[in-house]
Amino acid sequence: MPEPRLRPLAELVPARLRAARGVLTDIDDTLTRDGAIEPVALAALQRLHAQGVPVIAITGRPSGWSEPFAAAWPVLAIVAENGGVMLRAASGRVERDYTQDDETRQRNYARLQACARAVLEAVPGARLAADSAGRLTDIAVDHSEFAHLDARRIAEVAALMRAHGLNATVSSIHVNGWIGAHTKWSGAQWAVQRCLGTPLQPAEWVYAGDSTNDQEMFEHIPLSVAVANIARFVPQLTVLPAFVTHAERGAGFAELADAMLAARAAQ
Ligand SMILES: [Mg+2]
Repeated sequence: MPEPRLRPLAELVPARLRAARGVLTDIDDTLTRDGAIEPVALAALQRLHAQGVPVIAITGRPSGWSEPFAAAWPVLAIVAENGGVMLRAASGRVERDYTQDDETRQRNYARLQACARAVLEAVPGARLAADSAGRLTDIAVDHSEFAHLDARRIAEVAALMRAHGLNATVSSIHVNGWIGAHTKWSGAQWAVQRCLGTPLQPAEWVYAGDSTNDQEMFEHIPLSVAVANIARFVPQLTVLPAFVTHAERGAGFAELADAMLAARAAQ
């Protein structure tokens, strides 16, 4: 079978970008490098904001990790924990909304901690993600941030989470486990409805991502664009993004933002 080919962003016709209302984006390794936003990505967010283009970030990162960025970045919202929590800056503080009610969340929290203990016991080298303290609705096992787990161990962690009744997804750095039907996609729909008061129309949005845990978004949003570092995950992808940027991470995101702003300016 021939290697699947990702189309360069440069091949995207401006008319399609012009039709986009806003940007949905992953955070890790799409806007950030080594866990910190790249200045070029922050500047791109500011340019989009200045031109009235709404941006909603959706991440597997914890609520606690995301909160300061929900206040500092010019985004409408950050959906954290793969759709479990939404953070929005409102009059000097960050408002937190949950997908699940308090009772369900507390019950699930106990099950998640039990699963985390079982994973650490069963999988050699496994350790919880360093940002685990800020997690309210999920657990995360580090595979590439500070630890290194090979593909077999990563698969073992995910399988064990599923055996405990959790959903499991593998990002560029963590294996995330959670209980409930929410995902990045349901989180995106929730956030668009809450922030803009209208249902998410897939044709009206661009999605930017970089990893296996972005596939559901690539599948639902026709104008999906991966940053160049997606290359590392291409062999594992069953759903490819429609386009890929020339540059990696924040610079790739900036490339997308500028293409979108240029398309609108040419209108
Ligand atoms: Mg990512």
